[in-house]
Amino acid sequence: MLELRNYIDGKWVDAEGNRRTEDRNPATGEVIASVPVSSKKDVAHAIDVAHRTFQQWRKVPAPKRAEILFRVGTLLQERKEDLARKMTREMGKVLLEARGDVQEGIDMAFYMAGEGRRAFGYTTPAELPNKFAMALRDPIGVAGIITPWNFPMAIPTWKTFPAIVLGNTVVFKPASDTPLLALELVKIFEEAGLPPGVVNLVFGSGSEAGEVLLEDPRVSLISFTGSNEVGRHVASRAGEGLKRISLELGGKNAISVMDDADLDLAIDGIVWSAFGTTGQRCTACSRLIAHEAIYDELRDRLAARVGKLRLGDGLLETTDVGPVINAGAAKRIDEYVGIGRAEGATLVVGGGIATDGDLAKGSFYRPTLFADVRPDMRIAKEEIFGPVLSMIKVRDFDEAIAVNNSVAYGLSSAIFTQDVNRVFRAMRDLESGLLYVNAGTIGAEIHLPFGGTKGTGNGHREAGTAALDFFTEWKAVYVDYSGTLQRAQIDS
Ligand code: NAP
Ligand code: MG
Repeated sequence: MLELRNYIDGKWVDAEGNRRTEDRNPATGEVIASVPVSSKKDVAHAIDVAHRTFQQWRKVPAPKRAEILFRVGTLLQERKEDLARKMTREMGKVLLEARGDVQEGIDMAFYMAGEGRRAFGYTTPAELPNKFAMALRDPIGVAGIITPWNFPMAIPTWKTFPAIVLGNTVVFKPASDTPLLALELVKIFEEAGLPPGVVNLVFGSGSEAGEVLLEDPRVSLISFTGSNEVGRHVASRAGEGLKRISLELGGKNAISVMDDADLDLAIDGIVWSAFGTTGQRCTACSRLIAHEAIYDELRDRLAARVGKLRLGDGLLETTDVGPVINAGAAKRIDEYVGIGRAEGATLVVGGGIATDGDLAKGSFYRPTLFADVRPDMRIAKEEIFGPVLSMIKVRDFDEAIAVNNSVAYGLSSAIFTQDVNRVFRAMRDLESGLLYVNAGTIGAEIHLPFGGTKGTGNGHREAGTAALDFFTEWKAVYVDYSGTLQRAQIDS
């Protein structure tokens, strides 16, 4: 069996006392790897190394740092198929989507490597004669990076690539459910020639290993993607130490379908957004807000499509929808389906953990469609993070906007309509960080800002140039070449 190790100061090392746990394939139950369980001491050691290495790394010219990232991008390209297959085995998403997950990492590598020759600051006129003023971006220090399992390659690349190209060092604590993909990424850093100590990898639980990153004063920033529950804890614990904190949390994303929508297109977008990655994307569509004029037709056509989705191992060509991440997740999703029924929603299709044939070996949940859902039901408000879609009927466009905005989250929204006036009103009024017109709620591109409003986060964005703002801080520099004391606001 594969034995994973932590990567600290350029060496592959066991956790203290060689404590270990297992990584399993959620489609088959098979054990894929044995994984270290790091102690608080292991993580503190990694932080120590990253803290020391920062003093050298920040002085390496950014274009040189970027050259390593270009090599990382090339290696990811060469290994795309192998990494995608490993990802499907480790976390279940179908191969097509696993390839997309790796592709995001490739795109991010080349995009962020380009920042090695940009990372623009600015110069600006000074108010006094013979004086020069400019604003520079400084690296911050040690970045504590904590990631979820649902994008095991893409999300770690969104965080580590801007962090290192901008001169920070990293301690990376990946999700316990996807250690193998984290290790594969770090192996690529090593092969690309990243100096020891710049990226350090520690496996282990959130509550033990992750916690150290929140508490240690040598960690200057925390970039976290995960659940709201843990996100709140991260914010308060790391906030006490006045760290810079970026939180990308849950969603309750909706697609609104108006009476003038192209229904064929809308149905394709809904199925892809609600059941892709088995509904386990932060941007997954979990509410369908439908105009009363097309509601019944949309429900019936969707029911037929959803009923035909084939569950199975994501490595098989015949599979449309893979497993959920683990047995606990399947149980939690099933509880929500029970809550929906008890609240009076109509179960149109699906519902239940699937156990027929080989499916019994893994954790599979039947793609599920609820109709007659009211916005105040729990299944319409809380993140389920599984293949469950709730249909809500509305009278008109204004009600659709109000229902879309009625949840605590604000990650992604979508609207299907042919009316340009409605499109622009939706652009103004929908409360979310991502908005899709005549497309589903998923499909972000890496050079645009990514993140959500309201309960989805704390106002930061990832990717695009937004990442530069998170992983650097501004230094305003004044050079007075007058040879006299000039006092701002007084002598001008
Ligand atoms: P999670 O349970 O919150 O875990 C996320 C990460 O935090 C994991 O690495 C976890 O470690 C770690 N962690 C747990 N407790 C911790 C603690 N006390 N201190 C420090 N770290 C701790 O989330 P998940 O189940 O992996 O991911 C699903 C969630 O992520 C969903 O809510 C989804 O919406 C959200 N998500 C959001 C975005 C976005 O961009 N907005 C993107 C993807 C996913 P362990 O794995 O060891 O528990
Ligand atoms: Mg696994």
